[in-house]
Amino acid sequence: MNKPFSKDNTLSLLRQALNNPTATFHSEQWEAIETLVSRRTRLLVVQRTGWGKSMVYFLATRLLREQGTGPTLLVSPLLALMRNQIESAQRINVKAVTINSTNRNEWQKITEQLQRDVVDILLISPERLANDEFRETMLLPVADRIGLFVVDEAHCISDWGHDFRPDYRRIKRIIQALPLNIPVLATTATANNRVVADVQTQFGQNLTVLRGPLARTSLQLQNIHLPSQAARMAWLVEHLPQLPGSGIIYTLTVRDSQRLTEWLRACGINAHAYHGELKENREELEQALLHNQLKALVATSALGMGFDKPDLGFVIHYQRPGSVVHYYQQVGRAGRALSQAYGILLSGEEDQHITRYFIETAFPPQTHINEVLTALNQAEKGLTISQLEQHVNLRRSQLDKVLKILMTETPSPVSKDGNLWFATPVNYRVDWNKIENLKKTRYQEQQRMTEYLHTKECLMAFLARELDDPQGESCGRCASCLQKPLIPFTFSEQRATFAMQFLMQHSTQVIEPRKQWPTKEGFAGWQGKNIAPKLRAEQGRVLCLWGDAGWGELVKRGKQQDGRFDDSLVTASVELIQRGWQPNPVPRWVTCVPSLNHPTLVPDFAQRLAIALNLPFVPLIRKIRHTHPQKEMQNSYQQAHNLANAFAVEPWQGMQQAVLLIDDMIDSRWTLTIIAALLRQTGSGPVLPFALAMTTPNLN
Ligand SMILES: [Zn+2]
Repeated sequence: MNKPFSKDNTLSLLRQALNNPTATFHSEQWEAIETLVSRRTRLLVVQRTGWGKSMVYFLATRLLREQGTGPTLLVSPLLALMRNQIESAQRINVKAVTINSTNRNEWQKITEQLQRDVVDILLISPERLANDEFRETMLLPVADRIGLFVVDEAHCISDWGHDFRPDYRRIKRIIQALPLNIPVLATTATANNRVVADVQTQFGQNLTVLRGPLARTSLQLQNIHLPSQAARMAWLVEHLPQLPGSGIIYTLTVRDSQRLTEWLRACGINAHAYHGELKENREELEQALLHNQLKALVATSALGMGFDKPDLGFVIHYQRPGSVVHYYQQVGRAGRALSQAYGILLSGEEDQHITRYFIETAFPPQTHINEVLTALNQAEKGLTISQLEQHVNLRRSQLDKVLKILMTETPSPVSKDGNLWFATPVNYRVDWNKIENLKKTRYQEQQRMTEYLHTKECLMAFLARELDDPQGESCGRCASCLQKPLIPFTFSEQRATFAMQFLMQHSTQVIEPRKQWPTKEGFAGWQGKNIAPKLRAEQGRVLCLWGDAGWGELVKRGKQQDGRFDDSLVTASVELIQRGWQPNPVPRWVTCVPSLNHPTLVPDFAQRLAIALNLPFVPLIRKIRHTHPQKEMQNSYQQAHNLANAFAVEPWQGMQQAVLLIDDMIDSRWTLTIIAALLRQTGSGPVLPFALAMTTPNLN
């Protein structure tokens, strides 16, 4: 039942889908549909969010199905956000179904529907393509009659992209295997020429590119450099209430998202934190922002692709993102349907350090990969992740990163069966040249972002040029074009002082005692997996995070420069212990963790703290052998074993009362766990750990 394919017919389908009798095509929408339906070629569409990419693939699907082709396969990382689009597909009788981990009970039904050819478009995540069962039972039977293949957020396929995802490598292999007469549509909102070129090599050179203008006509841009976090916190409290509507404040780290939110709320601003560690109410928070029930979400990049609020009043960056593409992608969310919206880039002295950390840890070093492969090659029966931890000195997250990257290689040097990992006979070599080039690119991108901060030219034109948008010209609305600030740089010194106090008060962390030894056989003479309750430490406290704004900087200076911790750290610790913590039971004496490398640093601090608390200081723990620095030990098993039989405790007659155990730094908690067990075994009362700084970077 072939119907005539014409622009008029397609336009009436568009109006039906949008439920809007006067809707018209956006520039190049019709061209895109025509390319896919009548020329059946491969097409890359680079158009800003809101341009209507989903209309292109829904209309093309409907028209291709009318011509008798098989179903469309759409790969998108954003399925959860596509509910509204699926409704508009239904209005033009395009039956869209999705297969994901939450609708397993429907898989059988969907498989049958696919076989009966009543599904028009199947939406899946890139991760789904990695699933063997899915590939064999659902994809293979329909593979030879796919009518259209769509890759949403196609920049993820590029190693050079700002958001590379290993799972996208599978897409590349599928596309290369597709017959050339099957149309392919790749879409993205942000891709510079380098990414476009990369997508082109992966999709084949006969790829047509349709690229629209990226500049946002309602967005007013301004940059404000305020080195200290306290200054930026004060600035936000004073100027946020004057900004129109609701918006997003982007932070680089989860911790800053949480802490800044607490500060804004304490100052009476209705803000909420949003980041990847939130497990539950993310959708609720998105809804609250969509309905202007919040002034701002304080978000990490977890609030990313696919979040769509046309009337977003402002996007403020609390810290500078790693690249211009990231920045454009985030700031470009503001004001798509407003006549005026703000994009303000705040920046501080910590930005560079954080983005450098991200660059350096993005790819696992060669040694990590070698260690994992060596361990797997030696284990004929395979290894679980926990067994790998015993063989390899890597953190769980590092192991996961290595395995994930190895899994996506073709052919892969590892395989997985149930929860066991095996080495395959593949001789694998990492392409280090490529990784080094990638790192170099990331540093160049960081540098370009620094240049954006200081540029005197039109800010929008700078962004457009960096994104290779040929139509970039001066906007006439940004702080550079107007040659005056849109929003004053000013804030009250007093409020900045409050902000600094807030930072210091809110840097405290709780130390939860470990309850288990690293193996089920026990540890260093202690039997069994569980640490006996009478040997465990009590809950403890840490004053701050290492190097963090506030106390963290002072701790770092004491350890790395002065060789002595400042008296103000003693005062702050006393304040925290007596007012903030109020430990129960109350400690009656003080001791400390010894060190052979810095024999006086911690005892000197512990002694001053003991005097201030009016308690006896009894340094009765001895280090009896040298150990590797704990920070070089990467997982639990290695950390604990590095400390086996390293300490001895000499009995003291007053020790049966509760004791405050002092250390300067805390990381894995094994040192204090082992010392607490030794102290309890020697007859001490409950052990209350206290440390100056926690070293875990917690940057994600
Ligand atoms: Zn401008």
